[in-house]
Amino acid sequence: MPLRDAAELVNYKRLVDASEDMEAQLRARSEELQARNRKVLDMMAGRDRFFRSVSHELRTPLTSIIGFAKLLLEDTNEPLSDNQRQLLKRVVDNSHKLLAMVSDLLDLSKIEAGRAEVNLDSVDLDEFISQVIGNLTPLAAGKGLSLRIDANGSLPRVCTDEQKLSHILVNLISNAIKFTEQGTVTVSGKAGRESFSISVKDTGIGIAEDEIDSIFSEFYQAQGKKTGERGSGLGLAISRKLAGLLGGRITVKSKPGSGSTFTIILPLIPKSAPPKPTD
Ligand code: ADP
Repeated sequence: MPLRDAAELVNYKRLVDASEDMEAQLRARSEELQARNRKVLDMMAGRDRFFRSVSHELRTPLTSIIGFAKLLLEDTNEPLSDNQRQLLKRVVDNSHKLLAMVSDLLDLSKIEAGRAEVNLDSVDLDEFISQVIGNLTPLAAGKGLSLRIDANGSLPRVCTDEQKLSHILVNLISNAIKFTEQGTVTVSGKAGRESFSISVKDTGIGIAEDEIDSIFSEFYQAQGKKTGERGSGLGLAISRKLAGLLGGRITVKSKPGSGSTFTIILPLIPKSAPPKPTD
């Protein structure tokens, strides 16, 4: 064999050895990553099981606390003093807040564990927005705020999960009411060729620019501390994940002192939607 061919053969063998070596390393790394992935999934399933059982354990006694407190408040045979009534009303309010927090934790854990099913249906947007506004008007009125719709009644029907969209919109409007001391909360809808959006605009305290990204993190409460308003700090984290499940997103524009606008943008027909039936 000529000398040059022998040298090429040696080089070729070295290349084969090196590539076999790399292949073995890649295989080992891939197995390691798969094992880690399994561990993370196990941990998430464990967290989900934990939340489910804890929320059951918390929900039952909380529901009876609320029930018994209401019985005492409504008892006409042995009426309570004004002071006792006020204290008991605080028991009921705080128990409701705890119940809401438990339910938020459960929702978040359900989404993260991939247990949240998307049920698509045809939704009349105008009717949907009016209904949500109607349910939240007493909350706004209780703070002396005006809650209004800015739409001309010409929004189309869309294909989405009505319950999940309602969950997001209720979260955004409740926040707008919570973080606004005076003025108006305005809800408006818009539809394009492929997507639609619903905006919630308030005249409240606004959000500092460097906090905008953080407010979508679990348990983050920026302005809550300043206003004394306490929530679970989970509403926006859940809303962003729900919007993602529906194939969309949530955007925010805000100016401290002037107010905020949160917008949900969703596809008119999500990619996972079944094809339109043909007649
Ligand atoms: P929560 O309302 O329970 O505190 P969220 O996840 O819904 O939790 O919101 C996180 C934080 O984002 C709030 O604590 C508040 O600091 C800020 N935030 C949300 N919506 C508004 C709003 N409309 N105006 C001002 N701040 C807001």
